[in-house]
Amino acid sequence: MNLHEECGVFGIISPHIAHVAETVYYGLYALQHRGQESCGIVVNDDGVFSSCKDLGLVSEVFTADTLCRLPQGNMAVGHVRYGTTGGSSRRNCQPLEVNHQKGKMALAHNGNLSNAVQLRDELELSGAIFHTTSDTETIAYIVTRERLRTSSIEEALSGAMSILEGAYSLILMSPRKLICARDPYGFRPLCYGQTEDGMYVAASESCALKAVGAKFIRDLEPGEILVFGPEGIVSRREHCEKKEKRLCIFEYIYFARPDSVLDGVSVHEARIRAGRILAREHPVRADMVVGVPDSGMDAALGFGMESGIPYEIGLIKNKYIGRTFISPGQHTRTDQVRIKLSAIEECVRGKRVVLVDDSIVRGTTSGRIVRLLREAGAREVHMRISSPPFLNPCYYGTDIDSREHLIACRHSVLETAQIIGADSLGYLPVPELSSLVGGSGYCSACFDGHYPTPVPADTRKDRFEQKLSEQARPLDSLLAGIK
Ligand code: AMP
Repeated sequence: MNLHEECGVFGIISPHIAHVAETVYYGLYALQHRGQESCGIVVNDDGVFSSCKDLGLVSEVFTADTLCRLPQGNMAVGHVRYGTTGGSSRRNCQPLEVNHQKGKMALAHNGNLSNAVQLRDELELSGAIFHTTSDTETIAYIVTRERLRTSSIEEALSGAMSILEGAYSLILMSPRKLICARDPYGFRPLCYGQTEDGMYVAASESCALKAVGAKFIRDLEPGEILVFGPEGIVSRREHCEKKEKRLCIFEYIYFARPDSVLDGVSVHEARIRAGRILAREHPVRADMVVGVPDSGMDAALGFGMESGIPYEIGLIKNKYIGRTFISPGQHTRTDQVRIKLSAIEECVRGKRVVLVDDSIVRGTTSGRIVRLLREAGAREVHMRISSPPFLNPCYYGTDIDSREHLIACRHSVLETAQIIGADSLGYLPVPELSSLVGGSGYCSACFDGHYPTPVPADTRKDRFEQKLSEQARPLDSLLAGIK
């Protein structure tokens, strides 16, 4: 199983020619937590597209040299990726660039289509040739196909949105327009703002707007298409209010940065609330509360506030290492926990510690951290998790593609506590998720199995990269399927 975080998108349109790539670079830096596998920027210089994309972190791909080589322009789009579909190869780097009969476009995408396999099968059988293995190319194909029978790129995107199912926050750039769109459920976040000198910027999270000095204007509504072009800013709402909003609740729990505000709810405050709930639901006598850096810190603070147990910095994180999941493969990940985290012995020795983290997936990380604390002399370690147990795969971008590796699918809470070596374990109860965001309007299918869209049969991350011998569906059955 591969389990990864998702992507970040960033776009800019400026009233004057500027070094827009530099702004995108800073924006992507602020979105790096959403994906560390690859990144890229495409600049639009009066209809001429120039790009730089590669595997690696923003700081690795964009040196002063590579950044300088990108021309000035008045539009640009950027992307950071941690692939949820498609392998970690160069050809899956985004933004995707397409030349089609009516022009060209660059596309940056966050999310997963839940009907990607079906759409790709149909396209391939009608002659399409795919160069990448990610969902994004399917979107690009459908938009360009729609473009052939529509009068504008936004019209084409609107047509495509009637066909696409699942999660997509998109930033699309044509020679003359920058277009942002959020799927009708609003699974993934997308917002926009403006800089003092009149540039409009759009990004997955508001923290990226702040990073480039832009003032947040608003989130895109689920289903909204926002067009920045020669006619100014036009909002198209034909796909709005057709579905109930379902922003991924895990954005608040784990993905997003605490200084971001998504759909009007502060990520930091949502995490504090989660910690407070945990303290009420799973109280315990202890000497200190310690958060697992970084995503467990805010919830740990909330636990401390509610319980009155002092919040302590018991764990130190090496600042120069990415998220645990930066390298694929169980073996590599196991080693990284020790490189990434270290317990402060003087703080935890002889103490009863409440350890707060955002989630347990396989249990490997939690087990390692509990051990770190014990080795540092902690007397008791009580694990509190600011999400419910993961029980179901996600089809919308949180890459959990198999139940077999989810520890909560195979073990009770008590057994899990034993496996990770904790004295006790408590999760956030599913009904309490609504308290995090102050109401409904979120997707929590990975916890409760309530999927907003039909779910696909094949969700493996490498589903487009199978060897011939492994292919589940021979051509004959595909052809039979479309008759
Ligand atoms: P483990 O239980 O060892 O599989 O890892 C759990 C840790 O991985 C959590 O504490 C999170 O910080 C992180 N995590 C949880 N869900 C995801 C996800 N979908 N993508 C990447 N990292 C995740």
